[in-house]
Amino acid sequence: MPLIIVAGFPTSGKSTRAKQLHAYLSERIQSSAGGSPPKYRLHLISDQTLSISRSVYDLASLPAHTRSANASEKDARASIYGAVKRVLSDKDIVILDGLNYIKGWRYQLHCESKAVRTPSCILQIGCSKDKAREVNEERLAKQQEQTDPDSAHDEQEGPYSPANWENLVFRYEEPNPMTRWDSPLFTLIWDDDEAQTKQVFDSLWDAIAGEGRKVIKPNQ
Ligand code: ADP
Repeated sequence: MPLIIVAGFPTSGKSTRAKQLHAYLSERIQSSAGGSPPKYRLHLISDQTLSISRSVYDLASLPAHTRSANASEKDARASIYGAVKRVLSDKDIVILDGLNYIKGWRYQLHCESKAVRTPSCILQIGCSKDKAREVNEERLAKQQEQTDPDSAHDEQEGPYSPANWENLVFRYEEPNPMTRWDSPLFTLIWDDDEAQTKQVFDSLWDAIAGEGRKVIKPNQ
């Protein structure tokens, strides 16, 4: 089954929503099985599950002319791609929690899912720049308070350096639902409550596993 690509600004709440979606889907998979073996397996892939550090996205330390060839980010993308490719199939739902901010990258993932005849969709996390920046700043402040290295946050909780954060927001290529690779597009915003979140997850399920699921033909 399908690939769900989470996209959004850094520290906009992507992992929080990805975990909520994971909980929702595992329940939905169980309940739709009705006692028989579940039809789908579920996977959550993120920078954290692959131990990819926030710093791989940091261009601030690189000279301008080498930025487009940021090797660490390319390596990170290669491991994410490999991890998705290993599990993606018609029977596997993959939630890819990450920045996924490059249009060409989302296109590549869309093609990968098409190659295994399974749908892909985007879950966009809408959050104002100011709110997301505030979350990062709070994390930076917390990190500075910590003196005991043993109590350090794990990478997922870790902040981005301010320049890295600003740069990622600047480079963010917003999903465009008019393109094949960014559709169907589902959006959750910071203030969406439980009921609204469930509604979005219900439509997402319908599009990828229910009545609304598109038949993927190789020439589509
Ligand atoms: P990201 O994965 O984009 O870096 P996280 O999911 O880790 O962001 O969220 C950043 C912080 O914001 C966390 O402390 C989380 O608890 C909080 N948070 C995320 N989404 C929401 C929300 N919708 N409402 C309130 N707090 C949230």
